[in-house]
Amino acid sequence: MTSTQIIELSPLILIVEDSPTQREMLRHVLEKNNFRVVAAGNGHDALVLLEGEKPLAVISDIVMPGMDGYTLCSHINENMELRDIPVILLTSLSNPEDVIMGLECGADYFIMKPFSEIFLLSRIQHILANRNLKTEQGVRIGLEIFFRGKKYFINSDRLQLLNLLLSTYETAFQSNQDLAAASEKLSIMNGQLEESMADLVAKNQELQCLNAKLEQQQELAIEAKCQAEEASRAKSDFLANMSHELRTPLNSVIGFSEVMLDGLFGSINEKQRTYIEHIYASGNHLLSLINDVLDLSRVESGKMGLDVSSFLLRDVLDASLVMLSEEAQKNGVEMHIDISPEADVRIVADQRKLKQIMYNLVSNGVKFTPSGGCVNMSAVIDGNFIEITIADTGIGIREEDISKLFSTFTQLESAYTKEYKGTGLGLALARKLVELHGGRIWVESSFGAGSRFRFTIPQTQTAISENSDLPA
Ligand code: ADP
Repeated sequence: MTSTQIIELSPLILIVEDSPTQREMLRHVLEKNNFRVVAAGNGHDALVLLEGEKPLAVISDIVMPGMDGYTLCSHINENMELRDIPVILLTSLSNPEDVIMGLECGADYFIMKPFSEIFLLSRIQHILANRNLKTEQGVRIGLEIFFRGKKYFINSDRLQLLNLLLSTYETAFQSNQDLAAASEKLSIMNGQLEESMADLVAKNQELQCLNAKLEQQQELAIEAKCQAEEASRAKSDFLANMSHELRTPLNSVIGFSEVMLDGLFGSINEKQRTYIEHIYASGNHLLSLINDVLDLSRVESGKMGLDVSSFLLRDVLDASLVMLSEEAQKNGVEMHIDISPEADVRIVADQRKLKQIMYNLVSNGVKFTPSGGCVNMSAVIDGNFIEITIADTGIGIREEDISKLFSTFTQLESAYTKEYKGTGLGLALARKLVELHGGRIWVESSFGAGSRFRFTIPQTQTAISENSDLPA
């Protein structure tokens, strides 16, 4: 006996779909499930393919260029050779006419787009199981129906009708389920949205609270600033008035002690002279302290103006030398002036205040330079500014002390140890007066090897009127 081998081929499905992506997706699903697939892009090409091997089923899109799905289905049903091939139409089932048109063209099943893989496969399984029913029960019903004012002729067999209607129902049911799931999702999202809204409202309230607090704090800060300004003004006024009140009796103390020293009230013995000299020196010290305090408070409260005039810069440097030459001689310190030719000019500034700056700096130089040293005043031009340097060969300043120097009542330890007389206000006042001119002041020093105090002021200056609320 010869053995004949029969190779059972897997069922063939014809896909008719114009979108290449959709086509390939369908092909992938079917091939994955052991079906063979042929595909066409429209009804015409599908009919050509149908002339070859007869497929188990045709899965066709409806809207396609050339021949659409309904027409293709009608052609299949009118052809005796092909009419037993089940046709599955891929539809969106967006209106009832879809069902009637499906009935009219003799479609067997509907599948909703986008299709679910499980649903598509169960439909094909169903076809496989009922493979022979269509031909056996092929009693056709010729039926004319009117739907929405249009006449349709239904010429499908009973099984076809039943399948189509059941699959329509199933598809509608599936959409309903999808709708219910979507609605549930929507209601969950709604709940979440409400929660987020409540959160947002709470956050908003918090923000408003914070804002209110911030505004309150801003108001407090403004109030505190006003109070601080007011306190500073009160302090300046108090100092100015006190200083003024002290100056008058102090002038009497100094004046009378000077007269006593001159012997105008009769002769005094050595002991008395020593004590009166103490009174005179202390009175002068107190007077310079009061004058410095008064000047500082006037600058700080913005009540000091600039009384400008044109004068030779050299005259100011010469005056400082003359004023301090006696003291320098006493200390054994030499003094020099070095003005570059281009700085030997007239400038417009407040001469009295410039002299005061120079006096404070040069007197410090003389004070803090041991015998045998020297103090040098020099001036150069730097753009629109004059730069003046007072350099000494004195005790110098430690690096860490430099930042404190221009604050009020600073007297460094190095200065105390030598019992230098001073108020600790000279440099603070010099800085204020330089800044009043629109310049700046700084110092370069190496401890034990001298200091260089430098300051700049513009070559020309506009006057700032004095505020005469305070006593001069
Ligand atoms: P004072 O009246 O004490 O001189 P100043 O404000 O003029 O007050 O100076 C403050 C301090 O700075 C001085 O006490 C001194 O310690 C230091 N100082 C100022 N000038 C010099 C200088 N040329 N050399 C060394 N130390 C200085």
